[in-house]
Amino acid sequence: MLLAIVAYTLVRPRVPAIPTVSYSEVAQALEGHDVTDLLVEDGGLRLVATLRTPRVVGSQRVSTFQTNLPARSISLADLQQWTAAGTRVRVDESSGTPTTELIIQILSLAVVLGVVAYLVARQRGVLTSSRFVATPPSRQLTLADVGGVREARADLGDVIAYLADPERYHALGARCPRGVLLVGPPGTGKTLLARAVAGEAGCPVIVAAGSDFNEMYVGVGSRRVRQLAKRAREQAPCIVFIDEFDSLGGRRGRANRSGEEETTLNQLLVEMDGMEGNEGVVWMAATNREDMLDPAVRRPGRFDRVVEVPLPTVVDRLEILKVHAHGRPLDADVDLERLAQLTVGHSGADLANLLNEAAIVAVQDDCDRIMNAHIEQARDRVLLGRLRSGVVMGQAERRLIAIHEAGHAIVGLVACPDDRLHKVTIEPRGRSLGAAHFAPESDRHVHPRSYLEGVIAKALGGRAAEPVFMGPDAVTTGAGSDLVQATSIARRMVAEFGMSDEIGLISADPAAQGGPPSAQLQGEIDRAVRTLITAQAKRAEAIVRRHRDAVEALAEALLEREILASEDVLEIAAGHGVSRTALAPA
Ligand code: ATP
Repeated sequence: MLLAIVAYTLVRPRVPAIPTVSYSEVAQALEGHDVTDLLVEDGGLRLVATLRTPRVVGSQRVSTFQTNLPARSISLADLQQWTAAGTRVRVDESSGTPTTELIIQILSLAVVLGVVAYLVARQRGVLTSSRFVATPPSRQLTLADVGGVREARADLGDVIAYLADPERYHALGARCPRGVLLVGPPGTGKTLLARAVAGEAGCPVIVAAGSDFNEMYVGVGSRRVRQLAKRAREQAPCIVFIDEFDSLGGRRGRANRSGEEETTLNQLLVEMDGMEGNEGVVWMAATNREDMLDPAVRRPGRFDRVVEVPLPTVVDRLEILKVHAHGRPLDADVDLERLAQLTVGHSGADLANLLNEAAIVAVQDDCDRIMNAHIEQARDRVLLGRLRSGVVMGQAERRLIAIHEAGHAIVGLVACPDDRLHKVTIEPRGRSLGAAHFAPESDRHVHPRSYLEGVIAKALGGRAAEPVFMGPDAVTTGAGSDLVQATSIARRMVAEFGMSDEIGLISADPAAQGGPPSAQLQGEIDRAVRTLITAQAKRAEAIVRRHRDAVEALAEALLEREILASEDVLEIAAGHGVSRTALAPA
């Protein structure tokens, strides 16, 4: 079409242009009876006059010229007057509507706009369905690629069995769970599990993300849901996995949810309920925010099976490390069991990243095996950030940082005996200029009040040491992130865990309060948080004063060696009377 228009524009016959003159010139010619024919065009906006005797206009000798008129300036009386003077007057009605040229221009513009809109739509996947493609069998995983997550594996066993042999289930009238919701913190292997379930059952898996359905264009989200469901039915038996499900399955009617998002969710519910062709399609979804989901999503027949995928325990961590050690040559000095004990709180993704970083360090060291030293360096990189060799610090500043970190370390050893000291450093790494790094001694599922108070005191230990050694006016900005940590723990203790005597066993959670807590309760919480933090700040300062020599000696050692392993710190601390805790060197 576009080509045809362009071709026409190029080859259309060119009519010689009629010169335009002033109205006075045309009026003069009319009065002098020099006009044989007068054509009124464009609804009275133009007069084209044919002359009895040709005249010179500009440099041209012409027998026709034209002039433009203001709108509605010609009346019937004018036409009669010109006719009476002997001029043949003709009114061209067709010229009042858009000319062919104008139509062509409008059409060309429409076609160009259409092409641009099509390209934009294609780019954003509005028109194409290529975004939901099943993972090819060659890229499928099995449960051997997933470490730990024992309970989740057991829960998913019947889904695998069903997908592998649906007929066996149908024969007894058994129905497979239509939807399985995988719930757990980030990086615990939810996506991996979904792909492994499909791999074990030997069926395709179509992976999508909740955000794939969030589009500003009206109807695109629900259209994509239909496309996804259609693809799944074509591939059945198969798994549809939707990651970040909360952005699609979030609660309807929430203040910040758009009508478009709600329509998309409604479409998903409709597709899951649809009877025809749905057998053999298992919907799996992963979220870290189960509380955000719309209750309708969890109704029986939709995502009615919930599988918890928690952070790995020490046994799980060992299995995950073994999975990721596969294909990576480890030196005999690498003890994965010990590494699993030291990585409390790490997710599967953290562990995979740790071994990958260690492999990178080994390559940089020109080694053909990953050694324990490489894993240690990788741990420092991951936990403390990358070394910033470009930071230049004066002696006074280095001493201040050494005192600050020594304060954290000594207060941590005394107030937080359940945590394992990993190392203390004044090397600038990541965003910090130093760190006293502690990690939980073992997996813990609940924390007593005494432990949380100890963590607050430890966080405030650096700031507590500054005025003791440098005077009250020398305190620095270095404690900013420590205060954030201390305040957020204290606030949760007060407002969530009922650990404040002033507030009592009241939760400030909006779900418990039926909305945001009252201003009065909020004020009381703020006061209780301040009381709690002030008490722990005093405690930290008292520990620093009591163990002043130990803090001083530790700071000196840090200035000398920059980085101290836990056994060195424990030796210095014990040598200056800090009572040894149950800590074992990391
Ligand atoms: P998110 O909630 O952030 O989407 P997720 O729970 O879906 O995260 P995955 O994407 O499955 O996490 O995991 C990320 C990576 O972490 C995996 O590709 C894998 O390398 C590693 N990983 C996580 N958990 C495990 C596990 N249990 N076993 C082996 N590797 C794991």
